[in-house]
Parts: sequence; C-alpha cells; structure tokens
Amino acid sequence: HATIKIALKKHQEQAGIHKTLAEITELLGQYSAEKNHIYEDEPTALPNQLMLRELFTYLLADVRDDFQQSDALGDKAYFSKKLLSVTYIKLYKFERIIASLNNEQNNLLIKSIADRLTEITNNTGYPGVTIKLQSSDFSILLSGLERRQVASDLAQSILNGLRQPFIVNHEKIFVTASIGISFYPFDNVKIERLLEQAKQAMAYVEKLGGNRYQLYTSAFRIMNSSNVSGDLSLEADLHQAIEKNQLELYYQPKVNLKTGKFVSAEALLRWNHPKFGIITPNKIIPLAETTGLMDKIGKWVLRQSCNQIKIWHQGKFDFLKIAINLSGHQFKQSDLFHQLTQLLFELNINPEFLELELTEQVLVEGVKPNIQKLNMIKNLGIKISLDDFGTGYSSLGYLHQFPFDVLKIDRCFIQNINQNAKNAVITKSIIDMAHQLDLTVVAEGVETQAELEFLIANKCDEVQGYLFARALPVRDFEKLLKNDHIFLIPAAKCPLKQSISITV
Ligand code: C2E
Ligand code: CA
Ligand code: CA
Repeated sequence: HATIKIALKKHQEQAGIHKTLAEITELLGQYSAEKNHIYEDEPTALPNQLMLRELFTYLLADVRDDFQQSDALGDKAYFSKKLLSVTYIKLYKFERIIASLNNEQNNLLIKSIADRLTEITNNTGYPGVTIKLQSSDFSILLSGLERRQVASDLAQSILNGLRQPFIVNHEKIFVTASIGISFYPFDNVKIERLLEQAKQAMAYVEKLGGNRYQLYTSAFRIMNSSNVSGDLSLEADLHQAIEKNQLELYYQPKVNLKTGKFVSAEALLRWNHPKFGIITPNKIIPLAETTGLMDKIGKWVLRQSCNQIKIWHQGKFDFLKIAINLSGHQFKQSDLFHQLTQLLFELNINPEFLELELTEQVLVEGVKPNIQKLNMIKNLGIKISLDDFGTGYSSLGYLHQFPFDVLKIDRCFIQNINQNAKNAVITKSIIDMAHQLDLTVVAEGVETQAELEFLIANKCDEVQGYLFARALPVRDFEKLLKNDHIFLIPAAKCPLKQSISITV
C-alpha cells in the first residue's frame, strides 16, 4: 500500500497534477468537523483565519516541490517556478453598508459576497480557497500559478464580479473592493508575512480610492532593491512629486567625435525625495507605471525639456539638442502626437532640436501602427533614436522598417571594448551597418580613454558617458559647457586634440 502511495505521488508530481478543488473542500469539511467548527466562519461557512496556515501548507505542497526541483537546476529554471498568490480583499466602506442593515440582512449579504468570491476563484481552474478574515475582509490563496498575471486576472474578475449588485431585502446593494496581492516565494515564504504584505498593498489601493488592485511585488521589490525603504507611502509620495517640485531633469552631454563639440543633451529623470534623497529612473519609472502616474510624469518631462530647449536657444547654447526617453506607456498614449505639436507650437521651438529615444521593446508590439506613429512624429521634424541597441532580439535589418535617425549602441558592448574581441567585432559591424542605413551612431556608457579611442578609430559618430560627464543638473551642465569654452571636449581627455577643428 505504501509503495503504491509513493508511486502515485511521484506520478502526480511528474504529470503536474495538483490538488483538486474537491480535495481541498473535502479536507476543509473534515478538518473543521473534527475541530468542532472552530475553524469555520459562521455566516459564510468559509474557513476562517485560524485555518490560514493549514491551507497555505496544504496548497504549498505542489509549489514547493516544484520550487526545490527548479532550484537544483540553477538560475535558468527561475522562470519555471510556480507561484502561490495571497490576495487580500477589503470591501470598500463596508461599515457604512452594514450599519444600514439588520443582523440577518448582514449575514445574508456577507454570505452572498462569499459565494460570489468562491465561484470566481473556482473559475480560475487553479487550486484555490477563499478564507474569511476578521471584520468583513477576505483572503484568497491560489496555487500552482505559472505567472503573476493569473492572480492579477483573478483580482480583475473579482472587481468585475462585484459590479453586479447584491439584492438584500428587495434592495440593490453595490459593493466595491480594494485588493492587494503578494506572492510566495518571491515576496516571502511565511504566510503571516505574505498576508501582511498583501494587506499593505490593499491599504495603498484603498488610499487611492479603492476599486482597484495592486501587486505588492511591483511596487515594493523595486524599493527594496536599494536603501530606499519598502514603505508604500513612496507611491503616495510620487503622486505629489510634481506639485511639490521634486522632479528634476538632469542632462548628460553627447559629444560629436568629428568636431569634438557637445551637440546634444539626454534628459534623465531624477526625483529629489525629501527623505530618501535622489531616486533614479530605474525605480521611478516602474513605480510610475504601476500607479498610473507615467502619463503625468511623461508629460512633465516633455514640457520641461521643451522649455529647456527654448531657454538654451534664447541664450548661448543655441546649438544644443535635447533627447528625451519615452517609455512604452508614453508611446502608447493616443494623444502623444497632439502633445508634441501643441508644445512645439506653444513654445515656438524648432523640432529639429528635439529627439525621442525609444527601445525596440516599445516598438515591436504592433509594428505597423508604430511605424505610422513614428512617421507622423518624424514628419514634424523631430529626430527618432533607437535606444539600447543590442539588448533586444531584433536585427537591424528588421528594425530598419522604423524611421530612425539615430542608433545608440548599448553600454554593455562598449564596456572594455578594447579588451573584448567579440564586442569589438560586434560594435564595429553595428557601426558599419548603421552607416549603410544612413543612421547616426551614438555609443553609450563610454568610461575610458581606450574605449573612446576604439570608437574614434571605428568611425562612431557620437559618444556619451562618464568619461565626459555624468548626468548633471542644468546649472552644472551649463558650467561644464562654459568651462570648456562652450563646446569642446575637455582637452586632457581628447585624444584627437590636435586634429579637431575648433570653432568658438
Ligand atoms: P538610458 O536611456 O540608457 O540612459 C542612460 C543611463 O546610463 C542613465 O542612467 C545614465 O546616467 C547612465 N550612464 C550614462 N553614461 C554612463 C556611463 O558611462 N557608465 C555607466 N555605468 N552609466 C552611464 P539613468 O539616468 O539612471 O537612467 C536609466 C534609464 O531610465 C535610462 O536609460 C532611460 O531608459 C530611463 N529614463 C531616464 N529618464 C527617463 C524619462 O524621463 N522618461 C522615461 N520614460 N525613461 C527615462
Ligand atoms: Ca536613453
Ligand atoms: Ca540607453
């Protein structure tokens, strides 16, 4: 009997068969009856919070096996790990609804809500269970997930499902929810902590007005990756960052290698946070995208950069272009073209001095409409750059369908290019091919003299990197230009000092 049991378990594991819902329900019934129903929430007949740990352990069995097996395979198996999601659901301003009903009506309402949540959970097709927490909060554990999206979809289905009113005492009652989600094993491995994290994400959503969901991961893991605390209030702070004047654009110069002049400045976003100091875009952008603030911030960046072009062009720096980075969200905005024309018109700036940097990830979804959109923008006179080239999967031949003016070779190829023969060959051929396609080539992340020399020898057009300057606040950027007689590469750093024609 024992042998058969082991063989069966092994077979189930190999075939990826999970606990069925029927099994879970049966387990719940047995367990609760054994323990005199202390694990059951009375009006809803759902398991209560005392059952949380038991259910979590039970549902974890498959996920954990999978996790450990994957671990043994090393980093590559990272993506094959299954997840368990912990969803925290709080009914929005529910106390007010309850206050208007009697006890019996309350129980009826809460039971109907519980039934609807259970039905939606069961419809996912994944092993899962709905748990009634204290007051009128619920939690859902869903196991065996391949992707986080499954839990997001469940949250969205719940929000949609709650849109249908509940009928109590012939009256329609409308209920909305705030939902937070955390994931085992990424956010934590302990259920108490996972529930707390999901609750924190929920509390954030609630602050924003509810009727939405929020993943704990997307907001917090970014924050935890540096010394910025995992405090959800950072998201709330970002909402006010523009009004409080905390966002700032830094500028990093691009240098033309034929003339030795600074020709352009890439605008790079910084957030001067009153508590955490300067926060960089790799944290700001994902945070802005998950909180729906990217549109607003993108518009701010665009306007701020165009203002800067105007200021520079009214003064001494009338030769400078500004390059702006556009995220996927921004590029997808239907009014992007309108925003651009409006700004150009309003500020009366020459579009030739504005450059948009886009990565291939942004463009390869929906190639045809994107080409059309870019062509419209390009027809205004604005320059289009392909950013981070070499980090994606598409060939230049394919990407050439897009109307680019500039190609920026990613920093990873430039690093130690003088010592890395492969990168040297790749970079050289990218430069050659780009030139044949009439593109201007910019090398990113140039840090050493040797890298610069290689790029000059191989006819790269422009360079950008710490060797010349980091991204700087406007004033420091202007000082840099002035100190260098307006537009020369610092003499000590320029190997072609003698051969550059200097026009002051
Ligand atoms: P990116 O467009 O590739 O920008 C270049 C990044 O590399 C900048 O980081 C810059 O400071 C850094 N960098 C420049 N030269 C060197 C170098 O020589 N060595 C090294 N190690 N790094 C160098 P930053 O400012 O942190 O920006 C990161 C990314 O965030 C940018 O990558 C860009 O994709 C995005 N980003 C920045 N500002 C904005 C913005 O206003 N809107 C959007 N949508 N994205 C932005
Ligand atoms: Ca860029
Ligand atoms: Ca780049």
